[in-house]
Amino acid sequence: MICLYLNLKKEEDMIKGHCNCGAVTFEIKSEINDIYVCHCSICRRSTGANGISVIISKISDFKWTNGSNQIKTWHKPNHDWQTSFCQTCGSTLPGENDDSRMYIPTGLISEGDDNFKIVHHIWVESKAPWDEICGQGKQHKKGL
Ligand SMILES: [Zn+2]
Ligand SMILES: [Zn+2]
Repeated sequence: MICLYLNLKKEEDMIKGHCNCGAVTFEIKSEINDIYVCHCSICRRSTGANGISVIISKISDFKWTNGSNQIKTWHKPNHDWQTSFCQTCGSTLPGENDDSRMYIPTGLISEGDDNFKIVHHIWVESKAPWDEICGQGKQHKKGL
């Protein structure tokens, strides 16, 4: 029985997440462990915190499992920055990073984040004065 359980668990190796109200859910069919933390002023304002931490997946590995019609997106004028959020609860949601990759805010993850680790801090040169970065993650003045 134990072996069977382990086999089943391995097959379901998947990352899952949802917004605060549960309307929007998603899953990622790949093993990702690397976290990027962006400390830029735009991400800071967007989250109301010291920035945002995300994982990056291939668009083809990412799937909305519910509520994709609940998503609103805001593009910052004259900028390539954009954010997506749940129109009910306001949780920051995954979005397209470029043509092939999605960024997924790590705070949304409910399953599959056991081995997540911060590996990169980006836009450190525009971090808030009170934002103390610690840990092993590599610090980059600008983006990657
Ligand atoms: Zn929501
Ligand atoms: Zn940022």
